[in-house]
Amino acid sequence: MSLDGQYDEQNIFAKILRGEMPCAKVYEDGGTLAFMDAFPQSRGHVLVIPRNPSRNLLEVAPKDIGRLFGTVQRVATAVRSALKPDGIVVTQFNGAPAGQTVFHSHVHIIPRYDGEALAGHAAGEMADTDELKTLAEQIRNALEA
Ligand code: 5GP
Repeated sequence: MSLDGQYDEQNIFAKILRGEMPCAKVYEDGGTLAFMDAFPQSRGHVLVIPRNPSRNLLEVAPKDIGRLFGTVQRVATAVRSALKPDGIVVTQFNGAPAGQTVFHSHVHIIPRYDGEALAGHAAGEMADTDELKTLAEQIRNALEA
């Protein structure tokens, strides 16, 4: 999957958006959804996606960009309050050669803790579902505080 191609309605994030697949939800509004990464690179790894279909950042409609990054900033701030990381990586990948593995555009929020190595990108172990739900709840509470 390079940068070109058609949006696949069966991709895993499209299924999450349609409620066909579960996720540990952190935040949602009319334009965006944030949920825990199931194969986290660190404790508290969150994904933010726009609701409208797009395969990568280059395809996100200009009108949706502000809302997407508004949610990224909001959730990153809540991750900071809830989990007290020492740093936060915000990143995203466009096209398989760049490391993208799910072809609905998304932004990673990855907390960094001093002295703790990151698990590999899209190579980590699947996290315990209950643990992800607990983390999502902690971040949600920080969003509401
Ligand atoms: P990409 O490699 O495209 O930048 O990121 C895709 C991300 O989606 C990876 O970090 C991967 O761990 C995560 N992921 C893959 N499948 C699922 C899933 O079924 N549920 C959730 N919550 N995350 C997923």
